[in-house]
Amino acid sequence: MAAVAEASPLLEPASRRMQRVATEVAQRHAGDVDARARFPAETVTALKQERLLGAMVPAHLGGEGASLAEIADLCATLAQGCGSSAMVFAMHQIKLTSLISHGLGSEWHRAFAREIAARQLLIASSTTEAGIGGDLRNSICAVETEGGRFRLVKEAPVISYGAHADTILVTARKGPEAASSDQVLVCVRKADYTLERTGGWDTLGMRGTCSEGFKLSCEGSVEQIIPKPFSEIAAQSMLATSHILWSSVWFGIATDAMARAQAFVRAAARRQPGVTPPGALRLAEGTTKLHALKALIKSALARFEAAKASEDALSSIGFAVEMNNLKVTVSTVAAEVVQTALMITGIAGYKNDTPFSVARNLRDVLSAAIMISNDRILTNTSNLLLVSRFDSSLAD
Ligand SMILES: Cc1cc2nc3c(=O)[nH]c(=O)nc-3n(C[C@H](O)[C@H](O)[C@H](O)COP(=O)(O)OP(=O)(O)OC[C@H]3O[C@@H](n4cnc5c(N)ncnc54)[C@H](O)[C@@H]3O)c2cc1C
Repeated sequence: MAAVAEASPLLEPASRRMQRVATEVAQRHAGDVDARARFPAETVTALKQERLLGAMVPAHLGGEGASLAEIADLCATLAQGCGSSAMVFAMHQIKLTSLISHGLGSEWHRAFAREIAARQLLIASSTTEAGIGGDLRNSICAVETEGGRFRLVKEAPVISYGAHADTILVTARKGPEAASSDQVLVCVRKADYTLERTGGWDTLGMRGTCSEGFKLSCEGSVEQIIPKPFSEIAAQSMLATSHILWSSVWFGIATDAMARAQAFVRAAARRQPGVTPPGALRLAEGTTKLHALKALIKSALARFEAAKASEDALSSIGFAVEMNNLKVTVSTVAAEVVQTALMITGIAGYKNDTPFSVARNLRDVLSAAIMISNDRILTNTSNLLLVSRFDSSLAD
């Protein structure tokens, strides 16, 4: 990997560095990334140069110790330039949270976190499995250990930017005899794995995530297995961070669509001074939904921050229901907002090649409802609601 320049960009806040990446790089290449369904290499290089891939690593390990709220804001900013790039950034940060929240007790993972910050390594995720689909909490593949080493083979129908990542976090059963839900999370570096491409990624949207299918074969030291059951990692950090950071990306995509719609309405107003353009009402309607999304994401961030004080709170039914509801609501409403932007912009928004185009926004945001199917999440929530009460209080 090319060396990443040392840290002069850190003199500026991460938000300003990300704004630069979003407007000067991501936005410029977004159309080509989408048209050719190619990896947003320029944007990821810029993220590395601005040292944003390691922003969440604690300062004593070479990062900036950025909070989840800061990372969520960075995701939303990048999504306004390129939805696929923002989803790559969000997925990387979700994996980094698992490592930081649950792995830093182990010498191997501490050293690895330091390496991620120093070399700006890109982390991918392999949870989805052939025969299992998006059921995060079950695996078919299993870790086989012998003499301090492990081997693992996974049929992965989707690994976003798998061919471009420096490392992958993989879920698997703890051992060949373990139950399907008795899982671990394994950290494998490029030298530890081979990828055999089994499927392409010619999709409606999120085309730049290059989420191809692979047979993933890996081996390494047993130290690379995060020493905590995956059930706890999922409940205590991964569920919440996934839903919060994905939501931040979808919010950013919807915000960009509304900004284009606003520009369209303003241009119409300039053409006919004194006449309110017909799209203005829809613009107001769209922004009420955008504000509701922002409030939901900020409330989930606050809830997660408060719950972190206790493992019981993080593992509670109420917390899981709230995070599930966040994902289902934001994925649904963000798509509605983009459709409202399309109603405002009309043909100019429907076309791919006008300044008011919301075509890519719409195609990208439609992935939200199936990125772990909303039906699967609602089924999970409905089971939780059978054994819990509604949260009827407006107090914290
Ligand atoms: C842009 C994008 C990037 C992705 N990147 C990655 C990645 O990097 N790594 C990774 O591992 N995965 C990734 N995924 C996969 C994702 O996390 C889900 O696993 C995947 O979207 C689920 O695929 P599926 O719809 O084929 O499977 P399934 O989960 O099997 O669902 C298929 C359909 O069956 C129905 N269904 C299934 N189970 C239930 C249920 N219990 N209740 C009700 N209905 C149900 C739903 O209608 C659902 O749409 C990505 C997905 C997208 C869209």
